[in-house]
Amino acid sequence: MNADRVLEDLRELAGLTGGPDGARRVCWTDEWTKAREFLRSRLAELPVEVTVDAAGNLWAHMDGDGEGFVIVGSHVDSVPAGGWLDGALGVFTAVEALRTQAENGSPPVGLRLVDWADEEGARFGRSLFGSSACAGTLDPDEVRDLRDRDGERLEDVLARYDVELDRARESGAQLSGARAYLEMHIEQGPVLESKGEPAATVLGTCGVERHLAVFTGQTAHAGATPMALRRDTFMATSQAALAIREIGFEHDGVCTVGGATSEPGVVTAVPGRTEMLLDQRHLDPGKLEAMLDGARAACQQAAADHGCEVELQHLWSIPPIPFDDRLIGFAREAVKGAGGKDTAIPSGPLHDAAEMARLIPTVMIFSSSSPPVSHTKEEDTPEADLRVAIEAYGGTVAATLASAAAGELPPHQ
Ligand SMILES: [Zn+2]
Repeated sequence: MNADRVLEDLRELAGLTGGPDGARRVCWTDEWTKAREFLRSRLAELPVEVTVDAAGNLWAHMDGDGEGFVIVGSHVDSVPAGGWLDGALGVFTAVEALRTQAENGSPPVGLRLVDWADEEGARFGRSLFGSSACAGTLDPDEVRDLRDRDGERLEDVLARYDVELDRARESGAQLSGARAYLEMHIEQGPVLESKGEPAATVLGTCGVERHLAVFTGQTAHAGATPMALRRDTFMATSQAALAIREIGFEHDGVCTVGGATSEPGVVTAVPGRTEMLLDQRHLDPGKLEAMLDGARAACQQAAADHGCEVELQHLWSIPPIPFDDRLIGFAREAVKGAGGKDTAIPSGPLHDAAEMARLIPTVMIFSSSSPPVSHTKEEDTPEADLRVAIEAYGGTVAATLASAAAGELPPHQ
């Protein structure tokens, strides 16, 4: 792998579709089209066939000696004022993987690059559009009437990009013959930076449990109601939130109270109703369940201690999606070989790779994020860390192609 070429491509893309406020490659906009044109210009230098599927995903196929192919890629779309690396790093590292193979003749099995459409969901609020269509988990009726800020419907906007929503799942045909999916991404968080490590293998994407905890007590006069006679939902919520924080530590997962709203919300009243937003994530399904049970118990205890009642309303959940053990092994070796340590971490954020992992063996590699933030123009990664991650990705691609050529990783039907 030639990391210089990847960095050059990324800087050129940032110059074309970025500015003082950051990247602006929002899917289904002219800037996104410009990013895709730049990607096409790079692919035009390679012996590949470029197509766009029924969900708007762009594919570039390079023939190999053996049966089937390995998929490499990520997404070029971004949030409205995003960073230069989120998604783009994975796509242009995948381009470099194709270049490397082309320079050495032809790959042992085929290699197919994908640029997923609308990973971010920045315009309509639905993430992983293209990859979920490809994996068959997208329900057209759930997204058809989503509207952007200007009131435009998703279905109408997609039609302008030649994507017919009811046919989007035909994208799944692209997976026929796929033997593995490999994606590189920035971590978007502080774990690798805090360990001083440039890159790591990703074990899978965390399962998520989202709930709304509704505490009900009694609204009462702030002056007339003695402390011992209150049924204060804000205090019950506070006690529950602090206990939930400990549950996150106890299970080595993450628990977030994203916000709480009290009624009536005036300075002269004990709040009689408080709603608390709760998000919990873990890679281990048993631990995720234990964290949810713990949060439920903590809410009930806190409600009882303050003379209140509580109800947990389910908002959304997704199970943990583990990546493939064999590919995790290849990635760990490749990260070590590229100068990193043998570190493997779960991904808190969801990625297109989670959709692919439902159907075909999948693994991801993270580069560090430093500062450890994303979806902002401050997003960055030290160049030395990017070089390690790019090299590690190349090693993982090579090991996966060799494994497929040796008859492992059977083609997806
Ligand atoms: Zn991303």
